[in-house]
Amino acid sequence: MHLPDNISYILNELGEDRENYFNAVSPPIIQTSNFAFKKVADLSRAFDDEMGGYLYSRGLNPTVDILRKKLAALDGAEDCLVFNNGAAAIFAGIFANIKSGDHIVSVAKPYTWVQRMFDVILPRFGVTVTYIDGTATSNWDAATRPNTTFYYLESPNSWDYALQPIREVAALAKSKGITTLADNSYCTPLYQKPIEMGIDMSMQTATKYIGGHSDTLGGVLSGSHAMMKKIFDSEYLNIGSGIQPFNAWLLIRGLRTLPARIERITRTTAEIVQYMKQHPVVESVLFPFDESFPQYQLAVQQMKGAGGLFTFRLKTKNRQSIVQFCESLQHIMMAVSWGGHESLVIPKCAGILPADFDPANKEHGYIRMYVGLEEPAYLISDLEQALAGIDK
Ligand SMILES: *Cc1c(COP(=O)(O)O)cnc(C)c1O
Repeated sequence: MHLPDNISYILNELGEDRENYFNAVSPPIIQTSNFAFKKVADLSRAFDDEMGGYLYSRGLNPTVDILRKKLAALDGAEDCLVFNNGAAAIFAGIFANIKSGDHIVSVAKPYTWVQRMFDVILPRFGVTVTYIDGTATSNWDAATRPNTTFYYLESPNSWDYALQPIREVAALAKSKGITTLADNSYCTPLYQKPIEMGIDMSMQTATKYIGGHSDTLGGVLSGSHAMMKKIFDSEYLNIGSGIQPFNAWLLIRGLRTLPARIERITRTTAEIVQYMKQHPVVESVLFPFDESFPQYQLAVQQMKGAGGLFTFRLKTKNRQSIVQFCESLQHIMMAVSWGGHESLVIPKCAGILPADFDPANKEHGYIRMYVGLEEPAYLISDLEQALAGIDK
C-alpha cells in the first residue's frame, strides 16, 4: 500500500496543539454550545466571520476543528467541513451550488439519498437532472446543456463499482465552468484523492471506514477554502448539520487506526474474492481490483487500492436461493452500511418487491459483501456452509 508520505504526521499530530490541553495524548471533547467574549469588538468580529473563530458550536468547535484539519490534509484539500453524516455533506455541497433553472449531470444510480434529492427535492425548485453512464467522458459532454452547472460523480459506485475517468471528467467540467462533486466513500483518501485529480469537492461518509467501528455517523466535504466558506456561511450554519463534538472525537480515534484497518481489510478481501470466484455455485464476482473487472485498467490507474466491498451473483436465479444464502450465514451479519469491524452482506432483492423480482435482471441477483476485520478463515468457513445449501 502506498500511503501519503505525511500520513503518520496527519493522523497523530496535525491540528492537535496538545500544549493547549495539558499535553493529553487524546484530545478533549469540548462539549459546549457557546463561547464567551470579554470584548464587544471580539464578539463583533465573530459575527462578521463566524468561520474565523469560535462563537457557537453550530459553527466551529475546537474538537471538530482537530478532525477537520486532519481530514482536509488527508484529502489534499485546502479546507473541509465535517457533517453529522455523509448524506448531509452531499446535500450541502450540491444545494450551495445550484439555483432554480439549473441542470445537473449525474452518474446513473448514485447513492440512495442523492437520488432522492435529485428525484424528489430538486424538481420542486426547478432543477433538473440527467443520469448517464459515467464510464466515458464523451457521455458527460453529450449530456451537458447550456444550463448545466453541476456534475455529480461517484467512483466507484457502491453496487457495481462503475468508475468515471475522474481526471478527464474534471477537465471537461473546468473547460465549461461546471462545478464538480465526487463521492469518494468507496476509496477514502487513502486510495483515491479526487481533489488532486481536479475535482472541486470531494465527499466521503465518515460513518464507514473513518469511524470504522459502526458506532457513529459522520460526513466529510472538502475543497478550496473559498468553497468551504461559502457552504459554511449558508447551508452548514442554516441547516445545522454539523457534527457534534463527541462524534468528532470518535472519528479522530477512528483515524488513528485507519491505515492499519484498511490494509488488513484489503488483504482479507483479496482472499475472499478468490474464494468466491472459484466456488461452483457462484456465477460472477464484481470487484474493481480483480482482473475480470470491466474497468480494471482504469481502476488500477486511478485508485491505489479497492478496500472491502465486492458484489457477487449466484448461478441459480431464484430469489429464494438468495434469501436462503443470506439467512444461513452464522457470523456474517445482514445489514446496510459497511466500513466497520464486522463483515456484512446485503442482497439487492431486499429493496425489490418479490412480485417485481426479475431473475433475468442481473442487478436483481446482486449480493454485496463487506469484508471486516475478522480472520479470513472464519469468514470463508461461514460462506462455505451457507453456499453448501445452494443449487448450482
Ligand atoms: C453510506 C454512504 C453515504 C451516506 O453516508 P451517511 O454517513 O450514511 O449519511 C454516501 N455515499 C455512499 C457511497 C455511502 O455508502
